Amino acid sequence: MAIPSFENFVPGGESDIQDAAPSYWFILRGSDLLIARDGASIELPLTPETAYLGLPSERAHLIGTIGTTPCRALGVPAETHAPAGWEFEEVRSLFGTISERFFAVAARALEISEWDRTHRFCGSCGSPTALKPGERAMHCTACGHLSYPRISPAVIVAVIRGERILLARARRFPPGLHSVLAGFVEPGETLEECVAREVREETGIEVRNLRYFASQPWPFPHSLMVAFTAEHASGEITVDPAEIVEASWYSADSLPRLPDPITVARKLIDWFAAGADQARSR
Ligand SMILES: [Zn+2]
Repeated sequence: MAIPSFENFVPGGESDIQDAAPSYWFILRGSDLLIARDGASIELPLTPETAYLGLPSERAHLIGTIGTTPCRALGVPAETHAPAGWEFEEVRSLFGTISERFFAVAARALEISEWDRTHRFCGSCGSPTALKPGERAMHCTACGHLSYPRISPAVIVAVIRGERILLARARRFPPGLHSVLAGFVEPGETLEECVAREVREETGIEVRNLRYFASQPWPFPHSLMVAFTAEHASGEITVDPAEIVEASWYSADSLPRLPDPITVARKLIDWFAAGADQARSR
């Protein structure tokens, strides 16, 4: 085992890296990652293959390198038990312990292992699939249909009205947690249209001056969050009770319980709060 230096991670896929090379392994049981703890540090298996852990290593995916060391993702069945000295921990529960770079690499591993798990048979004809050499793709052994990792874009937006930000409590949130609005992009929709629709549907507000902010892969199980800022244009809050428990305008000095700092949702809210700080100090 070893503690990888994720600042040096370079993403990559199929290559001429020897299968026998010692690799860092992201072994995933659903969204649980196999780790060992060394004090405050998180360790990963560093080994040529995973047989000594009692785990099969076929269908492992190369996800990149740290220096000359490959990093591989391997999904294991739900009934898999952690080997002695190791434990499966939910990646979300490692927030606050792992760096943002570690989370980004874990996100990549999670999405690729989930894609592998859910694409073992062709979606067109039902025959078994196989990895396509030289490409991050699976091809059907009967009809040739190609499947690529599935990525579902979602928008997330900080709506600002003067000195306040629109925060809402979605039904699926833990108690007390409030965040900015978010929703999945529908087929045929632009990101801009999606922002306007989601804000309108969930709170009855119209927005203007949409600006791109940042993006973040969100591997639960395969979203790409595209974050924007926007200004309130018109309308008063009328929540859609099917999705939202409550929504309000919050000033920077009275914010409720917020999402984890690693999330782009929190980065949007922190951006708002920092702007309010600057306004106060002027
Ligand atoms: Zn097929």
